[in-house]
Amino acid sequence: MGRVGYEMRRLGLRKAYEYLDRDPERNLPNLIEWFDRYAPNGVLQKQRDLFRRIVTEREGNWYQLLISLWDDIDDEVRKTLFENLVINANALAAGIAAESRQKYGCNIPWAISIGLGKEGEEGRLGFDEWDDVIEQAKELGTFMFLFEGGDPLESKEELIALANKHFDCEFMIFTDGKRITEELAAEMLRVKNLIVVLRINGTPEDARLATPTEILRRNKLPFCTYSFYDESNAESFCSEEFYDILAENGVKMSFFFSSFPEDADPAYDVMVNVRRTKPIVPIHFCKDKDIIGGCVAGGRYYCSIDAKGNVEPCFFLRKSDTNVREKTLLEALQAPLCMKYHREVVPCNVEKKSR
Ligand code: SF4
Repeated sequence: MGRVGYEMRRLGLRKAYEYLDRDPERNLPNLIEWFDRYAPNGVLQKQRDLFRRIVTEREGNWYQLLISLWDDIDDEVRKTLFENLVINANALAAGIAAESRQKYGCNIPWAISIGLGKEGEEGRLGFDEWDDVIEQAKELGTFMFLFEGGDPLESKEELIALANKHFDCEFMIFTDGKRITEELAAEMLRVKNLIVVLRINGTPEDARLATPTEILRRNKLPFCTYSFYDESNAESFCSEEFYDILAENGVKMSFFFSSFPEDADPAYDVMVNVRRTKPIVPIHFCKDKDIIGGCVAGGRYYCSIDAKGNVEPCFFLRKSDTNVREKTLLEALQAPLCMKYHREVVPCNVEKKSR
């Protein structure tokens, strides 16, 4: 489909949101019909089926979670979230990415992780280079970006400038939460396309997150959490109480990575149960076959680019065979490391320690 066709669909879905926003409780069930009309056939079928179930089960935990967005999130931020995440990064991007995947014979990631590094750090990519990578990604069908690596808020000005320029994309900030301030919240309300993802280690020190969550909630900004666990901290994620505390604190979604083998992960079954019963969605990026089909690396759903431009199949692997200063993003996705994930399920050999 040409870009004009995508623009027409974008306009149709924008209208659908305006209609939904007028009375979400009443109009939510109609949204799936609009989505079927404007998103390409067969695209995101699994996710559409799941969404259909959510909007018809009014007493269900996910329906309650969805409706809570109208109370908990700023109106303009929620509108941008819908436009960038639902329309651009999913309904339309999935069609563009499927065409690119077929044309170029490689994975096209749903999200790309951007390692901003520290301002002034030797050899790191600058604003123009990241800007160019994002433009290339959009051409291929990727509209979702994850700022990571240390604390990306150490390069706050650059991060905000990239989000501001690429207003049609959604950006997540993976952070330890120390640099969440009122000033940042004001910037987030201005650019509207940033979501904070707070790191939770499952230790008592996590109580330090009370201040950032208070600032984000008061300003009606969306936020999630992420965790990497191994033998040293897995226990914390095995108790349903842990997820209750997150939900009570306004967390809607939690992302997990772990180094356990597929059949010996002590927390995974708990997460699946929590997902069925509580108003919070835990997603395991390494194992969630139901939602994302297991390990997401190598461009299957995401890949990572570090501060110096090295393209890695996964943020946790620290392996690269291409650099965006020497190759295009497409050439990086067609290089042997990412192509391995295109052809087969690659066993994960992430070291026990998280980055
Ligand atoms: S490579 Fe390993 S850590 Fe990365 S997503 Fe896959 S299973 Fe998870």
